[in-house]
Amino acid sequence: MNMKEDHPMHLKAYKYRLYPNKQQEEYLSKVFGCVRFIWNRMLDEKMNATGHIPQVTPAQYKEEYPWLYEVDSLALANTQLHLEKAFRNHFRDPKRFKKPSFKKKRNEQSFTTNHVNGNIKIDFDNSTVKIPKLNIPIKVKFHRKFEGTVKSVTIRKKPSGRYYVSILVEEKIEPLKPVYSACGIDVGIKDFATITQGNGVTKKRIHKPNPEYLEKSKMMLTKLQRQLDKKVHPRRKGDKTKKSKNYIKYAKRVAKLHEHVSNQRLDFLHKLSSTVIHENQVIVVEDLNVEGMLKNRHLAKTISSVSWSTFINMLQYKADWYDREFIKEDRFFASTQKCSKCGYKNPLLKDLSIREWICPVCGTHHDRDENSSDNGYEVALIRLKQLVGQELPEPTPVERDNMDDRMATYLKSEPSLKQEATTSTSGR
Ligand SMILES: [Zn+2]
Repeated sequence: MNMKEDHPMHLKAYKYRLYPNKQQEEYLSKVFGCVRFIWNRMLDEKMNATGHIPQVTPAQYKEEYPWLYEVDSLALANTQLHLEKAFRNHFRDPKRFKKPSFKKKRNEQSFTTNHVNGNIKIDFDNSTVKIPKLNIPIKVKFHRKFEGTVKSVTIRKKPSGRYYVSILVEEKIEPLKPVYSACGIDVGIKDFATITQGNGVTKKRIHKPNPEYLEKSKMMLTKLQRQLDKKVHPRRKGDKTKKSKNYIKYAKRVAKLHEHVSNQRLDFLHKLSSTVIHENQVIVVEDLNVEGMLKNRHLAKTISSVSWSTFINMLQYKADWYDREFIKEDRFFASTQKCSKCGYKNPLLKDLSIREWICPVCGTHHDRDENSSDNGYEVALIRLKQLVGQELPEPTPVERDNMDDRMATYLKSEPSLKQEATTSTSGR
């Protein structure tokens, strides 16, 4: 059986800057307003319902509020779906998903519409996207093309005033050629990630710090935020002070820089996760205890828990796209606490501020992050050997150089060993 011929379709989102003209901006702002209205109205009804929750649809609101007819009905229908999903997520996992809250005009605005009967048209030649109810297509900056079927389009307006379009595309992704290499990753405070990577014979450790440009932007953001706070604006609820012109000007600057930092961070995470996926067949990461880490105030200041989970999420879906194996180690495995040399489990290491330690059993001196990534690497290596077949004799170093071909042959003949694929819906 040839894996390459029947690998499943994947959903991939492509994000571009959007440049609507004045008229189009007016329409978009109308849709944002209607979507916000539907969301808030339905949320209000759910929250104030006594016992029985009324089953209303956007269509029913239209009779009462005819101006809803003026915008794309799919955008309204999606709002209901998004709200229902938000509630489902919240009830399933209240720690991770907050209870849905009312949408405010000053936050990010967005709506999603689906592709049905050619109502959405992507034109790479003229750099435009056509959405329902707008006769003239909107200008887009396509920095890259895609092939495949467009499923939906989400349009966003950021607090900075910029517009973006995210196009969800179903497409076939060519898996990468198998490689005989595995890695363990530790995400941490000192370095963003410590990676132990190798093939059982050669092994290297890679320390990936947060990039300097990101640190610089973050510092600038703190400075700008301090300046913003000095401008005249209401400081507590009920404060009648009006926002000064200067305050509004600075608020926009802060929003722009925020967006810039977040784009830079995403770019860094995309590059790093792609490199890891390209270079390794098996990737092991310990499941994060972000909550525990954030409880430590000392750490919470310096870390970005969001980046860690985004990074792990990227590794997960990219592994799925490119036929790599991603393993999230259970926290009970406690790779940070185990000596990578003798296996002794050091309970003192629950204290995250201990950066270095000496194993009381074998005497090895450990750097916390390196020890953890080494432990992950050992797990990844076992899996890698399993993938090429334990029944095969251990490869000699010369054979190891041709291991990628051997893996390719093996993976083609033993699809049952592979994990079941899942669909992922974001990133690149
Ligand atoms: Zn030890």
